[in-house]
Amino acid sequence: MKKSTIKKAEAKIWRAKLTRPFSTAKGQHDLLENVLFSIELSDGVCGFGEAAVATHITGETVAGTLGNLRTAALEIAGRDIADFQALMEEYKGKFSGNPCALAAVEMALMDAVMRKKKMPLWRFFGSRLRTLHSDMTVVLGDISEAEIATREILRRGIRSFKVKIGRDFDRDLKRVAAVARIAGKCPVFLDANQGFTAAQTLKFLKELAWLKIKPALVEQPVPKEDWEGLAKVTREGKVLVCADESVSSLQDAKRLIKEKAAGAINVKFMKTGILEAYEIARLAKRNGIKLMIGTMMETPLAVTAAAHLAAGFGGFDFIDLDAPFFMEEQVTRGNFVTRSGVYDLRKVKMGIGVIPV
Ligand SMILES: [Mg+2]
Repeated sequence: MKKSTIKKAEAKIWRAKLTRPFSTAKGQHDLLENVLFSIELSDGVCGFGEAAVATHITGETVAGTLGNLRTAALEIAGRDIADFQALMEEYKGKFSGNPCALAAVEMALMDAVMRKKKMPLWRFFGSRLRTLHSDMTVVLGDISEAEIATREILRRGIRSFKVKIGRDFDRDLKRVAAVARIAGKCPVFLDANQGFTAAQTLKFLKELAWLKIKPALVEQPVPKEDWEGLAKVTREGKVLVCADESVSSLQDAKRLIKEKAAGAINVKFMKTGILEAYEIARLAKRNGIKLMIGTMMETPLAVTAAAHLAAGFGGFDFIDLDAPFFMEEQVTRGNFVTRSGVYDLRKVKMGIGVIPV
């Protein structure tokens, strides 16, 4: 790689309107409000990263993340881009309590390095490219809203559904039944976002079984610190359990394997940063754990970056990259997902392939 230094870096708030509020058992997004981190090299090559702040899940704040990334922008100016791995290690230490800021720094550095090498980002994670088929989420709401959303998703050509549950047992049961009825043979994933106890989840699954509904998986049924509850649903639920909020580090992933607490992990850059997410994916695969790739409320920049990991590494059983479908405003250029949820990165020439506008 020809020598070049980071000429300048910048962090700023990045907002976008959503098509509808994104409601889960742990909170609601009415607006996307993230932090964009951009770097420019001395030879004119740029790199872009995004931090999606999920305060209701990780406790991080937009103000804190912006402050940290502004500090990073000052610190990395003048550094040699060839040292990007050392830089990523450095910020792994500095931003250990602010993983979405770490993800943004890693993303911008990797984007710039791969642009400089004139290679797509997925090559960083593997030698063969896969096509991905994303699900789409039916957010919390009433039963008729769930029915309308399910029909819309089917009309788009998407063939797997993630239904948010965990706030209202009886209504959630009716919503899942409505979605399953319309979805027919398409897989339905349930995501309680920590909203139930183990006993409630097992009862919920039993009631669904009486209705002859078998979800393809249930995600994070119990509070993130309730490892025993998670393991109990895994042992007794007769359904694949996917840990999301419980696995916020490589350490958590190791614990999950040791305690047989779940059979799948939802990997998200914003929980751990990019390199640690990659490590979790490799550890999971070596141990027979299934993988989901997911995101927070993120623009196509960060979502496509996540798609590069899943498409390059392979081995992701569940693709949950539907955040772009909830955006009303276009804040990026470069689109590699179809209306029907198919990610095809063959046309990405270099880096992530998506830039902010
Ligand atoms: Mg989840």
